[in-house]
Formats: sequence, C-alpha cells, structure tokens
Amino acid sequence: DMMTGHELREQFLQYFEKYEHVRVPSSSLVPQNDPTLLFTNAGMVQFKDVFLGADKRNYARATTAQRCVRAGGKHNDLENVGRTARHHTFFEMMGNFSFGDYFKRDAVRFGWEFLTEVLGLPSEKLWVTIYQDDDEAFDLWKNMIGVPADRIVRMGEKDNFWAMGDTGPCGPCSEIIIDQGEEMRCGTNCGIGLCDCDRYLELWNLVFMQFERDQTGKLTPLPKPSIDTGMGLERVAAVLQKVHSNFDTDLFAPLLCFAEEISGKRYGQDERCDTSMRVIADHLRATTFLVSDGVLPSNEGRGYVLRRIMRRAARHGKMLGVSEPFLYKGIEVVVESMKQVYREIADHAGYVAQVALNEERRFGHTLNQGMEILNKMIEETKRQNSTILDGKEVFRLYDTFGFPLDLTEDIARDYQLTLDMQGFEHEMTAQRIRAREAWKGSGEVAIAEIYKKLAYEIPATRFIGYEYLEETDATV
Ligand code: ATP
Ligand code: MG
Ligand code: MG
Ligand code: MG
Repeated sequence: DMMTGHELREQFLQYFEKYEHVRVPSSSLVPQNDPTLLFTNAGMVQFKDVFLGADKRNYARATTAQRCVRAGGKHNDLENVGRTARHHTFFEMMGNFSFGDYFKRDAVRFGWEFLTEVLGLPSEKLWVTIYQDDDEAFDLWKNMIGVPADRIVRMGEKDNFWAMGDTGPCGPCSEIIIDQGEEMRCGTNCGIGLCDCDRYLELWNLVFMQFERDQTGKLTPLPKPSIDTGMGLERVAAVLQKVHSNFDTDLFAPLLCFAEEISGKRYGQDERCDTSMRVIADHLRATTFLVSDGVLPSNEGRGYVLRRIMRRAARHGKMLGVSEPFLYKGIEVVVESMKQVYREIADHAGYVAQVALNEERRFGHTLNQGMEILNKMIEETKRQNSTILDGKEVFRLYDTFGFPLDLTEDIARDYQLTLDMQGFEHEMTAQRIRAREAWKGSGEVAIAEIYKKLAYEIPATRFIGYEYLEETDATV
C-alpha cells in the first residue's frame, strides 16, 4: 500500500524520536523575534537563537515538521507555483536538528537510513551533492554509505554552502537527490547543477554548521558543530506515491477536486486550466495558514504578500470561468484535510473564511473589469505579432482601473508576453506631473508624505498601484 502524506510525516518524526530527538511542534509562519524575516521559510527558523547560543533548550536533538512559506523575501517561489512540479508557496519541511550534539557522520547515516530502509527508496537512484572542499562528506558518502563516486557531485558556494547571514554560523551542506528517470529529461544539457528541471529532484538538504564567520570573512571552526536538515514533505510523498508532481499526491487531491467542482472542468485535460487549478490549490493552503497565523491582507510587508497570493488565486478562478467568490469555500477544504495535524486552523476556520470572502469581494469588481480589458490587449498584441504589451495601455489599466501591475505581469508571462516598462514609467511620470499640478496647495504636503513613505517600502510603482486600488475599491 502507498504511504499517505500524513503517514510519511508521522514516520519521519517517529524515526527521529527513536534516536532521542525531541518532537517539537511547528512554529508560526510569522517568525517570533525576527522582523528581518518575512515568513518562516525553513525548519531551523525557530531554532535560530539556539544555534547562535543565545537560547538554551533542555534537549540537544530535535525533530519537526515545520510549516513554511516561500513567497517574497530571499526565498521566493511564488512564480514557480503551477509551473514546476515541486514548488509551493506553502509547504511542510521535515527536519532533524543537533545542537552541538551529533555531527556529519550521524546526519549522513540518519538521512540515508530513513530514505532507503524506512521508506525503501532505491539507493541506485539516489545522488548526493557536497560542497566542493568537503572531503569529509565525500568520504562518509562513499566509504561509510557506499554511494559510488560518480553519483557524488561537488558543487560551489552558491548551492552547497549555507550561512545564516553575512556573519555567524555557517557551513557546507550536502543534498540528497533522486533521479526520476530518463523520460523526465528536460533537454540535452539536463543534469545536476546544469538545469533546473524536475528530473533530478532535490529531496533533502543536510546542513553541517561547523564554522563561525567574522566581519572580515574569516572562518573559525565552532567548538560544537551542529546539524540542521530540511526535507520537503510533498516531494517525498510524490516519490513514494510514484507520481512526478507534488500536486498528484493525496495531500493535494481534495483541493484539486474542489477546483474541479467550482469550475466544472476536469484536471488533466488542458494544461492552462491545470496550472490554474494547481495555483488555486497551493494558494488556498498558503492563505489558510497565513491568516490563521495572524497575517491579514494589506498593502505592505507580510500582508502585501498575502494579498498578492489571494488575488492571484482569485484571478486563476476567473480564468477557469468561476464567477462567484470561491476562496472561502476552499479554505474549508484545507481545514478538513489538515486539521488532524494542525489543530489551530480548525479553531480559526470561520474567521479565515470571512477574511477570504471580504478580500475576494473587494477585489472582484476590479478583477472582472481589468481581466476583460487585458484580454483584449493581449489579443490585439498577438494579432500584431508583437510580444510586448504597450506601456501606455498597461498604465491605463493600472491607473484608471486599479488593476495591480504584478497581476498584469503575471498574466502576460502566461502568454509569453512582456511589458513595455519604459512606456509605463513614462506615463507614470506624466501622471505625477499632472497630479502635482492638480494638487497644488494643502494636498501637496500629504502627497509628499506618501511618496516619502513609499521610498522606504516596496517599489513606488507598485505601492501607488495599491494605494489607488484602495480608492477604487472603496467606491465599488
Ligand atoms: P529547490 O532547489 O528545489 O528550489 P531549495 O534548494 O531552494 O529547493 P532548501 O532551501 O534546500 O530548498 O530547502 C530544503 C528542502 O525543502 C528542499 O530540499 C525541498 O525538499 C524542500 N523545499 C524547498 N522549497 C520548497 C518549495 N517551494 N516547495 C516545496 N518544497 C520545498
Ligand atoms: Mg529553491
Ligand atoms: Mg536547491
Ligand atoms: Mg537546497
């Protein structure tokens, strides 16, 4: 029988508990005590201070299944969603951690044993990457585990050297990858470190925290090196369930089923519709967990990212022909399928649904109108055999109809079109001059204040867009 996603999570945690790891609950998606980080994007986030030595726990080994969001910030997978088979905005990262306890040898041993013996993955399909200078890791993989040398790939700093920041704990990492087979090949240059397709699927990242980097960049070995690992639940579930996409696992089945119900379309019939269904499934999970963790849609910071996610989901609903608000119904589906693992989302379900309904209603009119205009623009552009959407038109859509620029970019990308940003900026400048003329007098101070604020926040063009949108919405 095939292992479900929930069973896999449990197997992982139990395996590490057997080796004296304390099972620690997932922390919130909103990082505690870290305003520099947008969302919790890895299992180690809640242990950051423990690794830095600033926080002490009464355990030296821990294991978690951590809810993560990678949308915005340093790790941003928003645009990958629906396009690749392996990226989500919201996903769960399973991890084992050693705080100055065991190091490389055991981390490698645990990782291999869990994948090959507990899960029974075929060892001949597994590859590992190591940091170029990490001969110790090479030796462990080759001689202790028995991985053939030609399946151990040395990689550079960018891919296989991990750092918490410019200074502080850092170290080489080693990743376990599964070859999904020749038929998944993306082209002639397909391979680890060569392409970014789904054939060589990265499953698990083992970070060997063994140095402290100082201001000058000098590395000093840590007296008690540590281990931090992360493995994507959805990816491993896909491998175990013998499918090539995370979206084809049982974790997503109820959500895709929901997308089919609301649209009256079948998943797997049309690539463009499938992408929309995947985006909806993914974004519903992100929305549910983010709102449940206290984030609300807004125009800045975390709330802005959430708003983008929700509006993107709503937009894909439109593309599937759904005319009524639907996000709030989808939230129930997420809650039903995940509440056995995350009690908190069941407690907040009604509230989250209400937030979703409000946002979708607010946005509905703008979206309907804007999509209609944009579709015409796209048709016209294609008819003229051009691949660039006219900047003046894009500006009009944005300025007059309050249609978010990032959404226009998003949609254009789906049709292999780009935006004439120069033309857009030109219109924007002209508009500002006009605005200044019109707002002579007391208003000018207020406007100046807004611009000053903008300079410190998101790129001005975007922010004004939403600022304007707020006004539009208020009159709807
Ligand atoms: P990729 O190269 O595939 O984007 P990554 O190198 O960015 O992954 P890590 O930062 O090493 O990922 O995170 C550890 C693990 O978490 C990955 O090996 C993968 O299994 C999982 N993971 C990372 N990003 C995502 C995502 N957006 N959706 C689902 N799982 C993810
Ligand atoms: Mg990534
Ligand atoms: Mg990677
Ligand atoms: Mg990685």
